[in-house]
Amino acid sequence: MSEIRVFAIANQKGGVGKTTTTINLGACLASAGRRTLLIDLDPQSNTTTGLGVDPHRVGVSIYELLVRDDGMVADALKADMRPNLALLPAKVDLYAADIELVYLDQREFRLKRIIESVKNDYDFVLIDCPPSLGLLTVNALTSSDGVILPLQCEYFALEGMQQLLNTIRLVRDRLNPRVGLFGVVLTMYDPRTRLAAEVVDEITQHFPKEKFQTLIPRNVRLTEAPSFGLTILEHDARSPGALAYKNLAEEVIARAAMMEDNHA
Ligand code: ATP
Ligand code: MG
Repeated sequence: MSEIRVFAIANQKGGVGKTTTTINLGACLASAGRRTLLIDLDPQSNTTTGLGVDPHRVGVSIYELLVRDDGMVADALKADMRPNLALLPAKVDLYAADIELVYLDQREFRLKRIIESVKNDYDFVLIDCPPSLGLLTVNALTSSDGVILPLQCEYFALEGMQQLLNTIRLVRDRLNPRVGLFGVVLTMYDPRTRLAAEVVDEITQHFPKEKFQTLIPRNVRLTEAPSFGLTILEHDARSPGALAYKNLAEEVIARAAMMEDNHA
């Protein structure tokens, strides 16, 4: 793979599966042999915790790198979380960043600079965004080749989508011409309900090109795994959740390669 792929996992709606997707798509990309970096850009620090790292003991985190100029990426980087899987962890201090960044030079480009300094070491970078459209998410969009948008299979899944799509468009016009909607992944899909099928239909109509074939099922194994600090591959590699994220990783790899061909 010639070029790095940086994806923001974003949706300003809370609890739609951003973190679950970041951790488990990341784990599946890594197990497929792709060197993968996860960046926890959410002050809730759920990606950090979900991989078994205690945010209170992190030391240097993404916060210092973003807001101070004294931190070195190498000090924050947890390079060997798992084979092929690295993490830039978050801690609760990151809550202040959305405000502190306002007063900094190049405030939209702080994360991009960090990623540029390590990009040669990775095939994929996944950024777990907070449930908001503030400066942290703008930094993620400014750094990314594309957005992976998780949507929960429920009524009103598309509510608020216009703001997110507008934000992507603004960032594309002003800050980062590369960024676009790379893919839409449906999460917490329950095949037994008619509602789920209706939501899938609706989203397919809205995002015919962007929607991934893979549907992530509602699966209790996915809920349990982070409480043990485990990825789904470690917690239950045969669960429907694990199989789904493996399929999603294959789709992401194939689609990224296709994008690269188109750019070439
Ligand atoms: P936030 O906006 O707060 O960061 P989020 O978008 O990152 O939330 P997650 O934390 O990934 O969402 O998921 C919300 C909750 O739903 C978590 O408890 C998670 O374990 C659970 N969950 C996510 N995906 C699934 C799934 N496919 N099956 C079952 N539970 C899931
Ligand atoms: Mg989250």
